[in-house]
Amino acid sequence: MQTTLVILKPSAVQRNLVGQVIARFERKGLQIVGIKMVHLTESILEEHYSHLRDKPIFRRIADSMMVCPVIVMAIRGLEAVDVVRNLTGPTNGRYASPGTIRGDLSNSVQENIVHASDSLETANIELNRFFNKNEIFNYEQLSFANIYAVDEV
Ligand code: ADP
Repeated sequence: MQTTLVILKPSAVQRNLVGQVIARFERKGLQIVGIKMVHLTESILEEHYSHLRDKPIFRRIADSMMVCPVIVMAIRGLEAVDVVRNLTGPTNGRYASPGTIRGDLSNSVQENIVHASDSLETANIELNRFFNKNEIFNYEQLSFANIYAVDEV
């Protein structure tokens, strides 16, 4: 089982899409093991988007992430990192395939509804960035046997 980090960005919160986006993950059979609302800060965004920090667009991206609080989620499942990235779709919502979250709900490269960790290593770093240990829960998913075959887990 993998646990990955998802952020429902201000574009989701402001457009009242939070419930719809969370429902996508639930519908897929993924387990929500952590969830909270936080207002991101400049320093956390400099860490989180360190790969963009030296680019001129960083200022605009960071400002857009601080427009209002966001929802951070820890999501668990078999190969959850790739499953969630595939559900999310590529960065630019205009070109993301219909059926993906960005493809269905975004028309922008910046205002693209969700962030999802891009590797297991990144997921672990990002989960630690946004959650305390006691905010991520281990609990039995009662539908587990209906989501995966025994030889898959
Ligand atoms: P992803 O979120 O798909 O992993 P990146 O890590 O490359 O993509 O970028 C982080 C976020 O920065 C994107 O989700 C998007 O909101 C924003 N972003 C990336 N590239 C651009 C761009 N060219 N113009 C505006 N915003 C961008």
